[in-house]
Amino acid sequence: MTLSDYLISLFLVCMFTLGYATLYNQIGTTVNRSFERVRNLNASLQHLPQIIFVLLTLVALRIIEISLSGTVYWVFINMQAVILIFSNLIVPNLTDFVLIQVVGLYTLALTGGINWTTGSMYVLGCIIIYGERWYGPKISRHAFVYYLPPMLLGAIFWIVIGIKYHAVFSPLAASIQFAGFAISYIALANYDRFQERDQQLINRLQHDVQYDGLTQIRNWAMFQKDFSKAFANRHATKSLALVTLDIDHFKRINDNHGHLVGNQALILVATRLNHELGQLGDNYHAYRTGGEEFTLILPGANREVAQLVAEQCAAMIQALPVHIRSGELRLTASFGVAIANENDTSATSLYKRADDYLYQAKNAGRNQVSVEGTLLFNK
Ligand code: GH3
Ligand code: MG
Ligand code: MG
Repeated sequence: MTLSDYLISLFLVCMFTLGYATLYNQIGTTVNRSFERVRNLNASLQHLPQIIFVLLTLVALRIIEISLSGTVYWVFINMQAVILIFSNLIVPNLTDFVLIQVVGLYTLALTGGINWTTGSMYVLGCIIIYGERWYGPKISRHAFVYYLPPMLLGAIFWIVIGIKYHAVFSPLAASIQFAGFAISYIALANYDRFQERDQQLINRLQHDVQYDGLTQIRNWAMFQKDFSKAFANRHATKSLALVTLDIDHFKRINDNHGHLVGNQALILVATRLNHELGQLGDNYHAYRTGGEEFTLILPGANREVAQLVAEQCAAMIQALPVHIRSGELRLTASFGVAIANENDTSATSLYKRADDYLYQAKNAGRNQVSVEGTLLFNK
């Protein structure tokens, strides 16, 4: 083997594995996006395209290997080894693990370089690496321990091949292949960790954009998105009701007890409102659409149902004790209930009607529900 052979070995295996990881992740991202669109797809099918990609890559590598010889042949064997050993870390479940190992072992066995002893050792190593998903997070600060099992397995793999093919394969050539394996494996594992960290960051940012920072219920931005969707679907859901509510004399709470108590009251009302609505209907949601103003979107609710929901929420708020140092506070709220009709040409006109009914309830003395302009007095 010449120096250029060694360089080719390192270069090819590293570039291949990184390209492979990129494709693997792109397939994952595309599938996730489709799943978001079609929510009722079977979740166990979600990883299937990625698993098929891994299996097809293994089979394709084996087919290409048949026509190869010399250095490039060993590089391709190395690619197979990296993919197989790395897939133990990333496969989502035991079934996929077994499937990939069976196909992987079979394609490796076809090279003639595996017997029962080396095959069993290999499977044992893979099981240990598969187990990293449980002990991995505990030792993630010690990357050395994390990388040890796959590195050992990779080293044994190349030592066994070096011994078996010593006539055509020098110890130095085997060491170079192992170096390629080690660099690729670490690069892949790091890539995977960065990817996971990025995903966590995206999830956190997505949550911050959609949920209110104080009360942790859905915010105005999400209300706008969900409301225009619900309005567009109002014929499909048969009906659509919108309820706006505003806590009565909330300024007094701030003035008399301070903003921290005010915040505490807002968190309490929002949390209970969200909980109550969740129990009343799966697709009912509460949003914080203003300082002490909340809006409820009730897809499919007719006038009677919407009235019932508003009355139940009003009673819940009335019964809610806000504990303060000197005792407890009681709150009330005013409600406006509007049901979509043929005159509502846009989502805004429905929202405006609900808001007008809310002001009607306020002007009539507060602690009341106005259902399409008809006032219901709370005791
Ligand atoms: P009304 O019955 O007419 O609704 O009277 P109100 O006092 O509730 O209404 P107003 O609009 O006069 O005052 C609303 C108050 O809500 C003023 C504002 O300081 C308070 N507020 C808005 N957002 C927050 C918040 O995040 N935390 C706290 N503590 N107070 C808030
Ligand atoms: Mg108010
Ligand atoms: Mg207000």
